[in-house]
Amino acid sequence: MPNLPYLAHYPEELKAQVRQLLTEDRLGEMLDKKYPTRHDIRTDKALYDYVSDVKTRFMRSTEPLSKVVFDNSLQIIKKALGTHTTVSRVQGGKLKSKREIRVASLFKTAPLEFLHMIVVHELAHLKEREHDKAFYQLCLHMEPNYHQLEFDLRLYLTQMEMDVGSP
Ligand SMILES: [Zn+2]
Repeated sequence: MPNLPYLAHYPEELKAQVRQLLTEDRLGEMLDKKYPTRHDIRTDKALYDYVSDVKTRFMRSTEPLSKVVFDNSLQIIKKALGTHTTVSRVQGGKLKSKREIRVASLFKTAPLEFLHMIVVHELAHLKEREHDKAFYQLCLHMEPNYHQLEFDLRLYLTQMEMDVGSP
């Protein structure tokens, strides 16, 4: 039985249901039905534009992003689906900060909803560093379905790992 690393913190009962779906080979099909929409955000430029749009809608007051890229080196195994950094440096007597968001390359081919969820997550980190209540409130403000999407993304990753693991 798969040990479901992406669902480690979810209740046992839920995990049992997921194992059942995996055993019956129905998880992939279920996700395809629920999330049939693919997107064509393939380049860093397209990703930058997409993230900037979401940011403009919800977080206008924060500084512009310096860089937004897909990153091949982000490993889903290590649970890093995206990263965000703010580098501050003094430039000409002024404190300037560079804000960067990196999104794991696997989202190029994932359903749009999952890309959206990870973008919302990393944008929220521009304001809230920790995964605390304020952080999740901001996520929910940007995406009311945030928690469901996060759960379904974990299912998607679980399914992906199954596909990679099978001959
Ligand atoms: Zn985070």
